[in-house]
Amino acid sequence: MDQLPTQQPEPRVERQSCWHCGEDYGPDERARHTEPVQCGPCIVCAGKPACCSCRLMYCVCEVHRYRG
Ligand SMILES: [Zn+2]
Ligand SMILES: [Zn+2]
Ligand SMILES: [Zn+2]
Repeated sequence: MDQLPTQQPEPRVERQSCWHCGEDYGPDERARHTEPVQCGPCIVCAGKPACCSCRLMYCVCEVHRYRG
């Protein structure tokens, strides 16, 4: 008794704009733009997603440190 759905679910390819970094991202990149990273002592970027770059010049955070 297998009732396979004839219609496949539509792939959700809609891209959203990240309000942190302004980039558009797809579903596979979503975690990078939405999941908070508890990075360290820097209070400016703590809890921000990995895509953020810290605006603090002396940020020591590996994840958010600004890479110009
Ligand atoms: Zn982002
Ligand atoms: Zn950080
Ligand atoms: Zn920082």
